[in-house]
Amino acid sequence: MQTAIATVCLSGMLNEKLEAIAAAGFKGVELFENDLLSFSGTPSDVRRIADDLGLKIVTFQPFRDFEGMPPERRERVFQRAERKLDVMAELGCDLLMICSNVSPESLGGIDRAAADLNELGRRAAARGLRVGFEALAWGRHINDYRDAWEAVRRADHPAIGLVLDSFHTLVRKTDLGAMRSIPRDRIFLVQMADAPLLDMDFLNWSRNYRNFPGQGDLDIDAFMDALQATGYGGLLSLEIFNDQFRAGSARNVAVDGHRSLIYMLDRLQSRCGQQAVLPQPLPPRSKCQGTEFIEFAIDETSQQAFAALLSGLGFRKAGQHISKSVTRWTQGHINIVTNSEKDGFAHSFNIMHGTGVCAIGLRVENATATLDRAQRLLDAPFRQAVGPGELEIPAVRGLGGSLVYFTDTASQLGQVWDIEFSPLDADQSHNDAGLGFVDHISQSMQYEEMLTWQLFYGALLDLSKTPEQDVLDPGGIVKSQVLQTMKGELRLVLNASQSSRTLSSRFLSEAFGSGVQHIAFATGDIFATTTALKANGITLLAIPENYYDDLEAKTDLSGDAIDRLKANNILYERDGTGEYLQVYTRTFDERFFFEIVERRGGYKGFGASNAQVRLSAQARDARRPDIPRR
Ligand code: MG
Ligand code: MG
Repeated sequence: MQTAIATVCLSGMLNEKLEAIAAAGFKGVELFENDLLSFSGTPSDVRRIADDLGLKIVTFQPFRDFEGMPPERRERVFQRAERKLDVMAELGCDLLMICSNVSPESLGGIDRAAADLNELGRRAAARGLRVGFEALAWGRHINDYRDAWEAVRRADHPAIGLVLDSFHTLVRKTDLGAMRSIPRDRIFLVQMADAPLLDMDFLNWSRNYRNFPGQGDLDIDAFMDALQATGYGGLLSLEIFNDQFRAGSARNVAVDGHRSLIYMLDRLQSRCGQQAVLPQPLPPRSKCQGTEFIEFAIDETSQQAFAALLSGLGFRKAGQHISKSVTRWTQGHINIVTNSEKDGFAHSFNIMHGTGVCAIGLRVENATATLDRAQRLLDAPFRQAVGPGELEIPAVRGLGGSLVYFTDTASQLGQVWDIEFSPLDADQSHNDAGLGFVDHISQSMQYEEMLTWQLFYGALLDLSKTPEQDVLDPGGIVKSQVLQTMKGELRLVLNASQSSRTLSSRFLSEAFGSGVQHIAFATGDIFATTTALKANGITLLAIPENYYDDLEAKTDLSGDAIDRLKANNILYERDGTGEYLQVYTRTFDERFFFEIVERRGGYKGFGASNAQVRLSAQARDARRPDIPRR
């Protein structure tokens, strides 16, 4: 199948859109008439720009309110169509797309529609052009692909074919069975769009909420299976109307689009086995086995305070890099790397964003195959010079200019700590706090970026996503989306808000961009941990008493149990038989904080019912500079 994207998906002027589309590796583009009308050049200019970029204009669209008009309006409609065919000749585009009539004047009747299509087919064929017909989900008389196909079939003209659109088909829950028996050469174009499940009229749903395949909730895979059954090998084009996309960078959105199609075809390939869908199959989605390390870029001013925080949390300095100003801190299975180099990636990151997480290292089954898959999915690989005796750890660019590294135990990468670090003597005075591993990593981002990073992580790694949740911050609503492995080896929480007053948004402005806002460490005994933290001089985020009064009313916990939680500022959530206990550090440098959690009885969530209390406590705490940070 040949991939393409419609100009309507992107922001900018037509020439900028075409440049972004070509840069993302597409060879075909659907030209929207509005983009042409608002462009200052002629159709021939557009043709030349597209040619220069190596792009073919595969469709000109949309042509509306065509079929089934009353006799007195019919000739006028054909005159309009002829003008479009004139433009297409100039554009060097051979396919006009018609969407089914929504006009109250239209008369309906499959044979009437077929007769109109036949007439237009003859006029188009005389110019060597073709016409594709699509059923809009809200079409007046034709709103089902099966009726559109019947009109095309009865039109019985080789220049008339069918356009299938996943959105129009799936939102109406139209049976996909009939698609399988449509002759593949009668399908001229297939348009792909996903969407979140919303209770909304089809028109508004389509015009504002479409997104790329895999970003929504529609059964795109079932649609592709039905299409595959026809043997279709033609055009597969993204047609997304979405305000978020039109607010984002055209280049990034175009890459996201291409990535979504590659990932969709990769899924189809793995379902069809032998039959070739992709010329070169991708390595499978990587199974993440855990967080190998979290790297912080730190500057001189915050170096001491951050080291004090880490040691207060029970981490000990375990290793010093053989050639760089890089230190490894460990506790349980957790590795924290602090990087205060004066050049290289971490340094530039620090200059841009201040102290914060500049990289995450993920342990996967095969790091090389993971990088290969990432590159095939158009992720940007990252390389920097490595010193003698150092390993080249595969990496790609992640959120907010940070990096995602891949390590594995199958190669030398598994010994990175022994190869690149000299051990430091264990500090006897060190007070371990019982932290075992990274429970979850929470990243804050612009609202527009959320779908991008969902797709980035979900296409590369074997993760499942839970439904998006709204969290109430004192400054507005924060959207929260979890991506995780089956057994919780990796849990990512993506947060975004449209209000500039939420903690999530303030993080973005303080840290000059998106990134890791908090890291949660798991403990097997949160009371032992909080006792150790207290002894280490750590002040935890203070939780108001009202919270505990409410907990008493909401749960059957004993007064003693609640007093213990209160004495340690522990938040509590129950889910069936599962329990979640959580505490937070105060925010470091107004940038990020740590959370410590204990999961009991197979608890799966993230303490959503406590989020509002926590966010308010943090907002209050941010206004109390008088309390020493630790
Ligand atoms: Mg369409
Ligand atoms: Mg959390």
